[in-house]
Amino acid sequence: MSKFCNTIIVGAGASGLMCGAHLKSDFLILEGAQKPAGKLAVSGGGRCNFTNENISVENYTGEQEFIASILQKFSFDDMLGLAKKWKIPFDVCKNRQLFCSNTSKEIITPLLEHSKGRIVTNTRLISVSFEKNEFTLQTTVGVYSCNNLVIASGGVSYPLLGASDIGYSVAGVFGHAVVSPRPALVGFTVQPGESWFKELSGISIPARVSVGLKSFVDSVLFAHKGISGPAILNASLYWEKGLITIDFLPDTKELESLLVGQKQVTTLLGLPKRFSKAFLGAIGVEDKIADKLTATDKEKLSKLKNYNFAPAGTFGLTKAEITKGGVSTVDINPQTMESRLQKRLYFAGEVLDVNGELGGYNFHFAFASALLCAKAINASSKHPV
Ligand SMILES: Cc1cc2nc3c(=O)[nH]c(=O)nc-3n(C[C@H](O)[C@H](O)[C@H](O)COP(=O)(O)OP(=O)(O)OC[C@H]3O[C@@H](n4cnc5c(N)ncnc54)[C@H](O)[C@@H]3O)c2cc1C
Repeated sequence: MSKFCNTIIVGAGASGLMCGAHLKSDFLILEGAQKPAGKLAVSGGGRCNFTNENISVENYTGEQEFIASILQKFSFDDMLGLAKKWKIPFDVCKNRQLFCSNTSKEIITPLLEHSKGRIVTNTRLISVSFEKNEFTLQTTVGVYSCNNLVIASGGVSYPLLGASDIGYSVAGVFGHAVVSPRPALVGFTVQPGESWFKELSGISIPARVSVGLKSFVDSVLFAHKGISGPAILNASLYWEKGLITIDFLPDTKELESLLVGQKQVTTLLGLPKRFSKAFLGAIGVEDKIADKLTATDKEKLSKLKNYNFAPAGTFGLTKAEITKGGVSTVDINPQTMESRLQKRLYFAGEVLDVNGELGGYNFHFAFASALLCAKAINASSKHPV
């Protein structure tokens, strides 16, 4: 015998919990992990960066009209209103990011309160079929059935926190295309030519990182495996293979005007000495007083503002903050998040091919899309199946 519920949400993460919190009829949330809200808890360094004052479609990759339509229905002001209604203490931090003031619990607690007694943990969805006008769900602990099914199972990055590809396989069963999932908001591994990066493990400096037409001014962090930090993570969202350009002196307009006088180059650059020395070593320029630099030295040093390199790859899905790609939005209705191929099947959050930059954009989209699902289900239950 299967357990029946009007609406079943798969995944007690950001989007699943937000959907549940706004449903007006009977629902259950099936969660594969031991605990709900795994990513919310660790996000934003434990303080969850849940939205951004500057939300716009330009901060996302994916189908732009689809994303714009969703953001229009749930703006920054709407999220702010909800945060105030739920008494979530928050701070506006650099790059206009809103973080919980103390801990992610400040946003998790109200989300969980609204789903009290309705979250079934340690229950992993295995497969879904649609028969006799109902969805039948095979899980690791039995069979469930429902009228409305919300897939809020997230992407495939950070498998330790419960991620799985179930959303993509359910989408496939109902004929949806899936855009190939790959890691994003992730560090880059480097080719042998950039092995000097690895010697700098632990150093963080502000830089401008450009990829294609996008540029990000923020920290870059040299790591044991390659290069990371916020500017690099953002660049990874737009990187498809090919070159990345780093300007290690984003606030200096003309390098020539900096490199004059009787001081050593490494002193004049004003960058951490360890970095400057390794950089000079990598480009084959001696650390000498600026007035003794030759034209060739200066030519080589210009790379400080224009350092091109092709990453070898990324740190991979285990370290990526999000999955780029996912269920194609082509067959999803942006008014309701309902599938155009299967009635009463909904998708919300990162499972979709909507990918936000660092800065609260991914939670904002997860919440926005989940609210639309809830509204559509509330409206449809006025006209029951
Ligand atoms: C370390 C880290 C830090 C981050 N920080 C931020 C941040 O500060 N700001 C921001 O905007 N974004 C951040 N993100 C990204 C953000 O966490 C995600 O984009 C967001 O959680 C997506 O919400 P979701 O509801 O779609 O998926 P999730 O929150 O991932 O929820 C999906 C849920 O589905 C469950 N599930 C998966 N498969 C199954 C199955 N077969 N059966 C049942 N349940 C299943 C999972 O266990 C999970 O609980 C961060 C991500 C990471 C990894």
